[in-house]
Amino acid sequence: MDADGNVTKQGQDYYLKPMNCPMHNLVYSSRGRSYRELPLRLFEFGHVYRYEKSGVVHGLTRARGFTQDDAHIYTTREQMREEISSTLDFVLGLLKDYGLDDFYLELSTRDPEKSVGDESTWEEATRTLEEVATASGLDLVPDPGGAAFYGPKISVQAKDAIGRTWQLSTIQLDFFEPELFELEYTASDGSRQRPVMIHRALFGSIERFFGVLLEHYAGAFPVWLAPVQVVGVPVAAEYVPYLEEIAAKLRAHGVRVEVDSSDDRMQKKIRTHTKEKVPYLLIAGGEDQENGAVSFRMRDGSQDNGIDVDAAVERIVTAIKDKAQV
Ligand code: ZN
Repeated sequence: MDADGNVTKQGQDYYLKPMNCPMHNLVYSSRGRSYRELPLRLFEFGHVYRYEKSGVVHGLTRARGFTQDDAHIYTTREQMREEISSTLDFVLGLLKDYGLDDFYLELSTRDPEKSVGDESTWEEATRTLEEVATASGLDLVPDPGGAAFYGPKISVQAKDAIGRTWQLSTIQLDFFEPELFELEYTASDGSRQRPVMIHRALFGSIERFFGVLLEHYAGAFPVWLAPVQVVGVPVAAEYVPYLEEIAAKLRAHGVRVEVDSSDDRMQKKIRTHTKEKVPYLLIAGGEDQENGAVSFRMRDGSQDNGIDVDAAVERIVTAIKDKAQV
């Protein structure tokens, strides 16, 4: 607009994005695709906005704008089974890494009254989901007729520390969107074929997953996840440089470490960082410095004194690498 309020350049409408699939489909169809490119996996941390009918919002776990770790996998029917199988393995392995193991699977199957796609494809897809789910050893709860009209779904339902159940990961087969967006690939015989699409979210929403983890650990994250993994606490100010040296060794291994050089007294520092649920406090005084050692103090108050510095570094680095529940 100019100074007199006249429109000099026409405005443009912007819209809030409710889902990521259409854009991935456009990427797919931006040029011709060959069977050699499949399975083609597109991923993004996509920010989406939803105004649910219920209107209910709840902290991090139910927000109106959130980030999906969203992937769409385009595959041939022949590859579909292998792709679902490896995706579910990946999902379950990942959730276990985060210490979530109290979960079950739900299998949502076809409602014959309202669904697209042919019976044999549904059957194969459903059987595959079921077999892979059963092989995981987890409880499988059937949800007959609960599938969306475009394909069967498997979802991971996890319980948090106070017993609430959250739907986390979902793996959804889709025979419909490829139709709608006229997605194609050239098969080895030169014919044009429709790919099958798999919608896959591991965490569902990053914000909600973070909320579930916070509840699950009551803030006491395992060392590999803790925002600050180690805090050095000097017995007196003169040991700060010594702890800084140890911190530098840890940082060289990528450890997130701080040294508390504030004016607080040692006992106060220990209380503060224990309350913050820092996995490792490293305490150093005169005796430690003389012996090239350091003392561990853990969140539960237990202590391990006079540990050789190299051994201390090794212990912390190993716990992080092994994703130990310290
Ligand atoms: Zn999708």
